[in-house]
Amino acid sequence: MTIEDFRPTQKITTFYPPQRVLMGPGPSDTHSRVLSAMARPTLGHLDPVFTAMMEELKSLLRYAFQTKNLMTFPVSGPGSVGMEMCFVNMIVPGDKVIVCRNGVFGSRMIENVERHGGVAVVVDDKWGEPVDPQKVEDALKQNPDAKILAFVHAETSTGVLSDAKTLCELAHRHGCLNIVDTVTSLGGSPLKVDEWGIDAIYSGSQKCLSCPPGLSPVSFSERVIELVKNRKEKVHSWFMDLNLLLGYWGTTRTYHHTAPTNALYALHESLFMLYEEGLEHSWARHDRNYKALKAGLETFGMKYVVDERYRLPQLNAVYVPEGVDEKEVRRRLLDEYNLEIGAGLGDFAGKIWRFGLMGYSSKIENIVLCLNALETVFS
Ligand code: PLP
Repeated sequence: MTIEDFRPTQKITTFYPPQRVLMGPGPSDTHSRVLSAMARPTLGHLDPVFTAMMEELKSLLRYAFQTKNLMTFPVSGPGSVGMEMCFVNMIVPGDKVIVCRNGVFGSRMIENVERHGGVAVVVDDKWGEPVDPQKVEDALKQNPDAKILAFVHAETSTGVLSDAKTLCELAHRHGCLNIVDTVTSLGGSPLKVDEWGIDAIYSGSQKCLSCPPGLSPVSFSERVIELVKNRKEKVHSWFMDLNLLLGYWGTTRTYHHTAPTNALYALHESLFMLYEEGLEHSWARHDRNYKALKAGLETFGMKYVVDERYRLPQLNAVYVPEGVDEKEVRRRLLDEYNLEIGAGLGDFAGKIWRFGLMGYSSKIENIVLCLNALETVFS
């Protein structure tokens, strides 16, 4: 074999992606301010200018999460890494964890519990319905030895919002810590970590924060930090061990891994934009734009999966109208309008569409484009 034998066989050129409009379940459109932040000169991950920026990033994240938790930072990795980080740090093999499943991401939480040696007690709700606090309370009463309650605040697979405040209160009342998935809610729906008593929370950069994918904001209460510091056995992951990460994201700034510096500039800019807009204004914008899209989708006879009381404004899941080739519609929207919408997952595959209005994608121009495009494709 020579070097030449390993030449790519296809013709390769610089990659220029098309300019799409992203109205699926994430990622969402990225603002040019965020993209240009990413293109600034790369700094070393221990450069004092960079570490000063990290402090601002942590403050901005505390604002977005509405928390004073010192341990609030972005993990280098997608939302799934944030999820895994919570479970791997908080579970000791044999621990019982109550997991609520009302869509795809609750099932992933169960996988995490089991892979880290925990015992999952599953509380099921129908897809499209919120987590039922009564069922959770029953499970907590039946399992007084449970250590953790885990649930998804905003289920992206169905577009339903669960009552995180009530569920977190229930967990504490029964002596459990809680883990809350806010990948789709952060920035788009009201979320108050300290007021609601959330112990461990993770999100994603690519949904209502409108930053490119690949970073997962997390935050941990003092209760979790104590638990992890006092573990008898090592956390079963070197990369995600909170004790070690504290060295880099805490005050000592010791090398842990090479942080993705340019991606972190982007998250800083997107959080700064959220701060400039104001959290409450961002929540209100998501709600306003949902109402505009809903009015349009309903003129085509589309029905929502989720009852109006529990709907996520940033994720509109609707049934595909009878007799329509759902794949073909999505293909035409992409090919003819550069418009991405989402398909259904799991049990909903082939049956629903998911229209995302997340972060910078939540704007009237996108809604007008989408409704006009649907009008043409349906006619
Ligand atoms: N949790 C929820 C609710 C999600 O919607 C997603 C992704 O869509 C994830 C977790 C996983 O995030 P990622 O795809 O960034 O790993």
